[in-house]
Amino acid sequence: MNTDPCVHCGFCLPTCASYRVLGTEMDSPRGRIYTLKAIANGELSLDATVAKHFDSCLGCLACVTACPSGVRYDQLIEATRPQLNAPELRSSAQQAFRKLLFALLPYPARLRALLTPLRLYAGTPLQALARRSGITRLFGPQLEALDQLLPPLAPAGFRDDFPLVVPAQGPRRARVGLVLGCVQRLFDPAVNQAAVQVLSANGIEVVIPPSQGCCGAVTHHQGELSQTNELAIGLIQSFEAVVGPGKPAGAGPLDAVLVAASGCGHTMKAYGRLTGSSFSAPVADIQEFLADLGLSQPFLAALQPLTHADGEPASAKRPLRLAYQDACHMLHGQGISSQPRALLNAIPHIQLREATEAGVCCGSAGIYNLVQPEEAAALGQLKAKDLAGTGAELAVSANIGCSLQIRRHLQELPQPVPVLHPMQLLAQSYSG
Ligand code: SF4
Ligand code: SF4
Repeated sequence: MNTDPCVHCGFCLPTCASYRVLGTEMDSPRGRIYTLKAIANGELSLDATVAKHFDSCLGCLACVTACPSGVRYDQLIEATRPQLNAPELRSSAQQAFRKLLFALLPYPARLRALLTPLRLYAGTPLQALARRSGITRLFGPQLEALDQLLPPLAPAGFRDDFPLVVPAQGPRRARVGLVLGCVQRLFDPAVNQAAVQVLSANGIEVVIPPSQGCCGAVTHHQGELSQTNELAIGLIQSFEAVVGPGKPAGAGPLDAVLVAASGCGHTMKAYGRLTGSSFSAPVADIQEFLADLGLSQPFLAALQPLTHADGEPASAKRPLRLAYQDACHMLHGQGISSQPRALLNAIPHIQLREATEAGVCCGSAGIYNLVQPEEAAALGQLKAKDLAGTGAELAVSANIGCSLQIRRHLQELPQPVPVLHPMQLLAQSYSG
């Protein structure tokens, strides 16, 4: 573990989400690097108190972007996470809650079984009443956070009804695989529907293996290495099962494997290093791929202005004001920031407004908003204020975790701001 390049300058501190809400050096990147050095030198041992200061890290990687000395904090925290899973470092309640999350979140079938009865509750007046009455608080902060993040559950989230191959409209420009994401397909199924529509309308054939599961991002970010390995291999195999000579999706190779959730994309891009295995085609974020390929001329020509909440179409005189929220694993983890903005700017009469702290984490960070709910809520409130402060009518997020988190906090504002994925806006604009 190379902590040497850190010169303790502190440039990373203002960008650090945990330092922002906890305000202690031990909860900053510089403090954690110092702690790692002390552990390596035998001056400190990794006990439960020290582990707490690593658990408070969101893994947002903003410090990596900010560091002028090139410190690879991402590698340091990734190497540290598995050690934090030692049973003596967390209470039995914390361990049980984490086990429950890792047994549910990466498995859409299990999650669907659990959530089916909750369809009568999520997004209904009953949920609003339960929240207002404070009854959800009785179940403890973690279950309360689960309830706060639970969106209305659309019937489409409980079905896998994409065909194996969605043909390209017009001349075929590319052939890609699409990873649906385990949380995204359940909690926001409209995103994948929009993604498939936009790809196909741009002359891109889409292969969607029906047996695909989770990419392993949720376990990877928590240092659960063997489960991550198992999930990653399973996902790779689900593509190998359908693409190739004599296979149901045809022999033609894929140009890329895409995903519309940036947390997933970040982990999938690391498969080679993590598992020694990889897809037969490079992984790309859907925005990254589309911006690089370029939107097709027929698609661009068909784009129509979106409408304001009052039903009036956006116009040069009254553009639709959007605030794009950079997901950390997209911005800091994959260096993608201009591509989603370029795609959004293709929609007529859009005005992009920039938040003042675009690089600071919203508090979602995988399961962080469930296991560290107080810190996550404080960050979510800061982010909602920052996004709403731009005067935007709509917030745009390309990561399901961020969408759920900022949607929760933007809804709590006196003037709630809805949140959509860039693919949803492109699909809406294309459909007129
Ligand atoms: S990690 Fe980088 S920015 Fe932060 S204190 Fe060390 S050298 Fe400075
Ligand atoms: S990854 Fe994010 S929360 Fe963790 S030390 Fe770096 S900036 Fe802070």
